Amino acid sequence: MLHLRNTCKQESYLLSLTMKPEGLQVTCDCSDNSKPYCDHIYGALQTLIGTLGESYFKKLLPEGAIQLAFKHRLCFDKMESSAGLDVSVREELQTVFWLDNLIVVTDLSAMLNLPADGPKSAKPFIAQEDKKPGEDGICYLWIVPYRNRFQPFVLPCAGKMNKAQTEVKQFYGFLSALQQPYDSLLTEAQQELNKTCFAHWQLAETLPGRLIKEGLVQCQTHPWFEILNYWRSLIEQLSQQAFVYAYFLHRVDQLKKDKPHKQRATGIFVSTDVPVVTFSLTDMGVYYQFRPEIWINRERVQEYEADTSFFVTHKNTLYLLGSLRDAAILQWMDQLEGVITVFKEHFAAFEQTILAPIRQHYTVTTNKTN
Ligand SMILES: [Zn+2]
Repeated sequence: MLHLRNTCKQESYLLSLTMKPEGLQVTCDCSDNSKPYCDHIYGALQTLIGTLGESYFKKLLPEGAIQLAFKHRLCFDKMESSAGLDVSVREELQTVFWLDNLIVVTDLSAMLNLPADGPKSAKPFIAQEDKKPGEDGICYLWIVPYRNRFQPFVLPCAGKMNKAQTEVKQFYGFLSALQQPYDSLLTEAQQELNKTCFAHWQLAETLPGRLIKEGLVQCQTHPWFEILNYWRSLIEQLSQQAFVYAYFLHRVDQLKKDKPHKQRATGIFVSTDVPVVTFSLTDMGVYYQFRPEIWINRERVQEYEADTSFFVTHKNTLYLLGSLRDAAILQWMDQLEGVITVFKEHFAAFEQTILAPIRQHYTVTTNKTN
């Protein structure tokens, strides 16, 4: 129950808000019995809803944010205003199970039912014959969309090499590798690779930027599986390329008008190692923290980026995830800032709705902080 002092000019009454199984109960300690709800209640609810929003009342539920804020003072910020009392979870706890709507809408079973097997490489791999760059060379841009607005894709691009021929000094147009003067720079393997790049891009264009959004799988499974298939064959061929850059692109129409800017390109390595996804549950005292862990060659990777569908990047190296399921579950967790905080009061519900289903498919280790 939450008591609020409801004051206007000289009048002051005590307003009590209680969440009962049948709904919200609001009472006032004034002596006006002429109607079921006195004017003070109407006035107070109008102010509460107007200022704190309708979702405020969810915080009054048993074991909701208000109750927990009084119980675990260090985990919450309290904001008192003339409208009443509001609370919010401290930012460092990130996404909190049960209190955060982002997790409520999650369709976890749809993600966990995605194919877990790695697709087979579609084409036999053509070994790369050596063609040393001269003044000009061929590189590949892994186009990373701004805020996941579209699917990433790969573009071949010609550029002017530095003297030591260790990097591209200046990029020519986005699609320059396909133009006459640079045609001769392409090896046979690169010509094959370029075909795969464009076939992939054509399919990628028809799909939303994110595999997962608000906990839901975006569109049907089949095209995603096909995209992953393309990536599998691209990644093998890209790992053989001397010059690959991650390139941040805001809008697709820049490809026609613009040239790649050097400062938006980061030289990367492409690895054919497949990251392994596991989870950990850490007992932090009054709450648990649940987070994914990435393992590459049996070593746990401490810092990684997973905001692009299908990929993990670590120390300037690009790794393709092994399955659609891994890609989905990791993107979902990434959108929850990479960690779910679970107050012990909500653990039973968390275990039933999230932990147990994940445990059926992934290793979950438990540990305790001191
Ligand atoms: Zn009243």
